[in-house]
Amino acid sequence: MKASIGIDGPAGAGKSTVAKRIAKILNIPYLDTGAMYRGVAVAAKRHGVSFTDEAAVAALVGAIDLRVRYTESGEQHILVDGEDVTGELRTEEIGQGASLVSRVPAVRDRMTELQREVAHAQRVVMDGRDICTNVLPDTPYKFFVTASAEERANRRVRQLRELGQPADYDTILHDIIRRDKQDSERAYKPLYCGADTKRIDTTEMTIEEAVEAILSEV
Ligand code: C5P
Repeated sequence: MKASIGIDGPAGAGKSTVAKRIAKILNIPYLDTGAMYRGVAVAAKRHGVSFTDEAAVAALVGAIDLRVRYTESGEQHILVDGEDVTGELRTEEIGQGASLVSRVPAVRDRMTELQREVAHAQRVVMDGRDICTNVLPDTPYKFFVTASAEERANRRVRQLRELGQPADYDTILHDIIRRDKQDSERAYKPLYCGADTKRIDTTEMTIEEAVEAILSEV
């Protein structure tokens, strides 16, 4: 079995688009690890646990059964205690909640364990914040996909407008900067680009060029 591919980077850098394309081309599964942290945030919300109450969040992650499942068409779903919560993951509130609960060591350790189980069973493309530095440090295929905060905000605005949803550039840029700070400054397993990881700045690159930059290495 060839080694799995790890892709880290800040919110909105295009990691998941790039990772999905690579998975498709190589015909291997894609694991979106951010969705798992979002699943924990959904569980916290449902149980009335504050995202910032570290002890309660740690107790919660030990009590819930979080699973990743794939549909026949290869789409990833997140199940919490048997219930499919996939439809609730993609809101700003849950994204921000995921960023807060992901600071808790018990949450990170449990998600890391689940992610390693997936990579142990098969070759995968995995994206997140600590894949190269923590989850799969031994894989030779490590990438850090990033872009300027302004470019990431612009992309998000375009994406929302295409969906016919309201999008305010300043609010989005503010949220992106706040999440970058939280993810890269947390005490336990923060987001950073390790010395052995190839940095790919997509600010002035197309998705295809980023995909090509990774494929040429693997
Ligand atoms: O990538 P996504 O926006 O879905 O991730 C949501 C949050 O989950 C991130 O802001 C980050 O705090 C956390 N996360 C993490 N480690 C990962 C993936 C996501 O801490 N491997």
